[in-house]
Amino acid sequence: MKYISTRGQVDPIDFQDAVLMGLADDGGLLIPASIPDVSEHIETWREMDYRDLAFHVMKEFIDDIPPADFRAIVNKAYADMNFEGGVAPTVEVGDLYICELWHGPTLAFKDVALQLLGNLFEYILSERGGELNILGATSGDTGSAAIYGVRGKARINIFIMHPDGRTSPIQARQMTTVLDDNVHNIAVDGSFDDCQALMKTLAGDLEFKRTYQLGAVNSVNWARVLAQIVYYFWASFRAGEQADKLDPKPVRFSVPTGNFGDILAGWYAMQMGAPISGLILATNENDILSRFFNTGEYSVAEVVKTLSPSMDIQVASNFERYLFYRLGSDHQKLREAMELFKQTARLTVPLNEDGMVDRRISAGRSTTEDVLTIIRKYYEEHDYVLDPHSACGVTVAEQMGLDGDTVVCLATAHPAKFPDAIKDATGKDGLATHPEIEKLMDLPTRCEKLPNDIEQVRQFIVNRLKGNRE
Ligand SMILES: *Cc1c(COP(=O)(O)O)cnc(C)c1O
Repeated sequence: MKYISTRGQVDPIDFQDAVLMGLADDGGLLIPASIPDVSEHIETWREMDYRDLAFHVMKEFIDDIPPADFRAIVNKAYADMNFEGGVAPTVEVGDLYICELWHGPTLAFKDVALQLLGNLFEYILSERGGELNILGATSGDTGSAAIYGVRGKARINIFIMHPDGRTSPIQARQMTTVLDDNVHNIAVDGSFDDCQALMKTLAGDLEFKRTYQLGAVNSVNWARVLAQIVYYFWASFRAGEQADKLDPKPVRFSVPTGNFGDILAGWYAMQMGAPISGLILATNENDILSRFFNTGEYSVAEVVKTLSPSMDIQVASNFERYLFYRLGSDHQKLREAMELFKQTARLTVPLNEDGMVDRRISAGRSTTEDVLTIIRKYYEEHDYVLDPHSACGVTVAEQMGLDGDTVVCLATAHPAKFPDAIKDATGKDGLATHPEIEKLMDLPTRCEKLPNDIEQVRQFIVNRLKGNRE
């Protein structure tokens, strides 16, 4: 499989180059040159365990890693000790199914992709030589999942900046309790925007970037989307069978959405022939994407703070991939749309004859009140505690009406990461706990506090990298 850019101005490249490139050199996003039709494999794939399935689904998109090597990468990423209780256990709760994607090391669904990506980086660097120094800014969850993806790996360092005192204590500790030599946490005396500005300045300094082999693990890396396609197959099989063992039917997925990476993976799975009849896109009050799928207009509004911080996003970094296909896979049209968006913070697509943007993607939003109500309801009626992100997905699924369909809601974080919201919703303390979270407060930490100053951050990185080489 070759990879091309949505903007059409990069020569086709192989999978490994796509993984290292992240963002395409022409500013677009990398996508596979074609989408494989796997319909004929469905009945065989249904019988496989998660690792077997992951290997087969992803192999469709990779032909520059020998199968035995890729098999080893998958086995390592999805080892039992990494995902206690399975990668994507799918359980019946009330009238719907919950696919729990939070069994990984940081208790959030980003682990599913970043555990694979870390192992892919390690493999590619060991084959090709060289090193990779990952630089990131985080307001919370992505930082810890990225750190866990590469901790202890040869030839890789990771520098993650977070705003000092402005992430939740749990989120900060999930990062700073990782003591591996290749992990460097920086607490910046500033806001998340300051951290991002520092990162952009460093990443934009091409000389610095080349000298120190800087890279990113941002959400547009194709390998992250790829890893997420797998659980749509997995959960559609598991829920379909539980609903009707003898004759499993296609299912619908409800997906709590921020950067559009997760639901895009579901869209690819659907295109490939997974038994999926439709997708439900759920946002919080930051609803640019639900507005888009209801009206065809994609226009930026202010970001507001909600109980589901990982979905507090306006411009969705993966949206360009979907837009490309929606514009008829026309690079020229896509370039024009993105240019217009850059200038006016707004773009539109013409609606289909049925008046919809996409017959197979319905969308809705969930308010803070909805989130608290649904958390309380699922706790009281089903003794099941949802986190605030997953609660958005369940709320919107219920708004749409279940219609006797088999609906799978993706649960993207463990509720123990958000104790305050759970307490607000249920009035009870200590409902959602997890041994890994409880342990955090007693573990030693390592973190460098730095002022919001580009030169001091740069010097810190340089010193650490020198220290490692000596
Ligand atoms: C990142 C994240 C999301 C949003 O996923 P996207 O791929 O950005 O749409 C939802 N829930 C949680 C807990 C997350 O960390």
